[in-house]
Amino acid sequence: MAKTEIPYKIYLEEKEIPKYWYNVRAFMTPHPPFMNPATLKPCTADDLRPVFCDEVIEQELNFTDPYIEIPEEIRNFYKMYRPSPLVRAYCLERALNTPAEIYYKFEGNNTSGSHKLNSAAAQVYYAKKQGLKSLTTETGAGQWGTALAMAAAYFGLDLTVYMVKVSSEQKPYRKEVMRTYGATVVPSPSNTTNAGRKLLEEYPGSGGSLGCAISEAIEKALTSDSCRYVLGSVLDHVLLHQSIIGIEAKTALDKYGITPDVIIGCAGGGSNLGGLISPFMGDKLQGKNDIRFIAVEPASCPSLTRGKYVYDFCDSAKTTPLAKMYTLGCGFMPSANHAGGLRYHGMSPVVSQLYHEKKMEAVTVEQTKVFEAAVMFAKTEGILPAPESSHAIRVAMDEAIKCKQTGEKKKILFGLTGTGYFDLAAYKQYNDGTISDNIPTDADLQKGFATIPDFPINN
Ligand SMILES: *Cc1c(COP(=O)(O)O)cnc(C)c1O
Repeated sequence: MAKTEIPYKIYLEEKEIPKYWYNVRAFMTPHPPFMNPATLKPCTADDLRPVFCDEVIEQELNFTDPYIEIPEEIRNFYKMYRPSPLVRAYCLERALNTPAEIYYKFEGNNTSGSHKLNSAAAQVYYAKKQGLKSLTTETGAGQWGTALAMAAAYFGLDLTVYMVKVSSEQKPYRKEVMRTYGATVVPSPSNTTNAGRKLLEEYPGSGGSLGCAISEAIEKALTSDSCRYVLGSVLDHVLLHQSIIGIEAKTALDKYGITPDVIIGCAGGGSNLGGLISPFMGDKLQGKNDIRFIAVEPASCPSLTRGKYVYDFCDSAKTTPLAKMYTLGCGFMPSANHAGGLRYHGMSPVVSQLYHEKKMEAVTVEQTKVFEAAVMFAKTEGILPAPESSHAIRVAMDEAIKCKQTGEKKKILFGLTGTGYFDLAAYKQYNDGTISDNIPTDADLQKGFATIPDFPINN
């Protein structure tokens, strides 16, 4: 098909919003089950019920149904900001002078500024349907908390967000967005929970951590029968909800007869990447395509590329079930000068399994290179990208530059997960020339590995 026939933006119509999520696990070897750390037996629905809402647990444990219906109420919410555009990056292609075709699926077109709203809407809806009154969660950078605040306001549930204290101080406006949507934002560690009080006793003046914020949110959820906890990445049901990104992208590309040669996504907990690749990967596992899939992670937090594939806790406070995943150890802390997001120690069990079976690749990038790519993208395509998303931009650009040398007209698709308006402190560092790379040494990683639980299931 001639170049000019592909529009700059491929929009789908409202009626083309998918009616089903795509459950890629139906086509995979099942990944090892979550384990209850107390019994070291696979988690049952009953183990999970005090913490998560029922429908979400059912989805979490569903390894067999390839399609799971999106309820109409959730589709109505999606209509406010979906279908999201699939953009042919003509301007970036021209600037790179590459024969490659670059496409990106843009998920930043909502107030939360990221793809996280796709799962927030679903999780809040199911909580409402179950008759629950309130939800709790944690947030670090704030995208997840904002997305959940928006969804909670729409469906009429109360929300308490435990926000890592340093982040709430560094990003006061992010906090105000959440409060505007009606959420209660509690800087963590706080004196409202035992976990928070304990940490404050041990470390007065602590700036907090994601691990502590998770513990506080779970503790608060457990204090009331009508309250549950919600998580924004890593778990299989979150990845399932994010499959809407991949289905829409595939529908748009199919209209123009395009099959990507390579699909690239940034990987924090793995949900946007897993969601973007789901329908393409499902086809690949059935022998219908030979697409390359690439996970991009920061050199300072290399879970897939340098982590261990073992059972580990999902939080640093060691309160969650154990997941078999690529992990740097639940006590791993990325270097303080790491600005670019994606600082989670582990990785989605689905993505981990696919990587372990060599169905996909993973690479790391350094943050100076990430911000170079972000700035070039902003100048050419006009969108100020989130630092997280810019990891994928970097590798998409590198693939396109390789095509320049080989003359290949590769079709490259990447996920542009969000915008970077709340990350201007990191852009400032880049503009001031003070941003640097910090690649952990093997000895640094060893400290994290030492925090992986020494259970018999790991031997
Ligand atoms: C949270 C976030 C990510 C990473 O999370 P995943 O679960 O790995 O998708 C990436 N980009 C943006 C903009 C985010 O907010």
